[in-house]
Amino acid sequence: MTNPLADKIKALIRTNGPISVTDYFSLCLADPQYGYYHVREPFGLAGDFTTAPEISQLFGEMIGIFLVHAWQEHGSPTQAIIAEIGPGRGTMMSDVLRVVRRLAPDLYAAADIHLVETSERLRKVQAETLTGHEGKTHWHGSFDNLPPGFLLLAANELFDAIPIRQFVRTAQGFRERMIGLDAEDELTFAAGVAGIDPSLLPTPAQSVAEGTIFEAAPARDAVMAAVCERLRANGGTAILIDYGHLATGYGDTLQAVRNHQYDPPLANPGRADLTSHVDFEQLALRAKAEGLQVNGLAHQGDFLVGLGLLDRAAALGRDKDLATQEAIRDAVERLAGAGAGRMGELFKVLVVSSPEVALVPFRKKAR
Ligand code: SAH
Repeated sequence: MTNPLADKIKALIRTNGPISVTDYFSLCLADPQYGYYHVREPFGLAGDFTTAPEISQLFGEMIGIFLVHAWQEHGSPTQAIIAEIGPGRGTMMSDVLRVVRRLAPDLYAAADIHLVETSERLRKVQAETLTGHEGKTHWHGSFDNLPPGFLLLAANELFDAIPIRQFVRTAQGFRERMIGLDAEDELTFAAGVAGIDPSLLPTPAQSVAEGTIFEAAPARDAVMAAVCERLRANGGTAILIDYGHLATGYGDTLQAVRNHQYDPPLANPGRADLTSHVDFEQLALRAKAEGLQVNGLAHQGDFLVGLGLLDRAAALGRDKDLATQEAIRDAVERLAGAGAGRMGELFKVLVVSSPEVALVPFRKKAR
């Protein structure tokens, strides 16, 4: 089967030599002609993967409850921006806004809704999902274009979609991992010439076996820094959710997913979702370096349960038929449970704020 993006990448490599994992990653997701988010409908059963907001309305509702709580702890500012980066189909924002409108009508009335989305196609889908909030919704191609003001920000599965660099341990130390062509003219991994600042490595390079991969994510760091700068300037809270690890370590986490199955990362450029695990220790360090308060970093399951997921699920299931109640139980298990196919432990939640506030479930109210 011909793949126009694979042909384009091969032509690029033939002319200029091997490309970095970062360049491959961003071509796969964001190539304006053939990139994954421009050409595929990734979400849901018919797509390639299912995200938490697409599993159940409970997810977005809990995020809504959290944002209302954060707004109150910040002193209920009379103007607020509720923003999301990478809103996908707009499902989470729709569930958030339903809760905000019910629990905090003042916040709903005061708020402007801003969505940061690079894909033109997804913007249209989001606008459709968010009918009923017209006049309040605004779209931006870049986070930097958000207007100033007190900010409540959420992002789910955004960072995993921002390209990483990979370095592979060779006899000469760590070298940037590249993608070139093999004898059959197929894409293949190779070690390049660029090295890495050894201070970025969790343990000395010498004590790590050859072939070991280290992942660095300067582009994620830059997005985190931009978020922090905004929160510091006008106040607010950001909640960032993704799969990944709590501490920096070694390992190859580059993964492609197609039709709900893992796919070799080089097999179907532009036709499979390409992501990698998020290093939350790095994001939290960046936030602290930018002068922000890190309210907490938790497993998604602990965060949701601590916020009252089980009570909310019980309320949702009350007086419903058995099949509906079963579906709700199943959703709670997928969102908060541990083990294969469940998100509760694999996914992490990072919350950062400025100025300092005490936020449940990380800290009980001091009052
Ligand atoms: N949050 C959604 C979608 C996750 S998929 C959900 O949970 O269902 C990743 C989303 O991030 C897509 O909407 C994609 O278009 C968007 N995205 C990827 N890189 C981005 C960037 N640099 N800026 C803004 N959005 C981005």
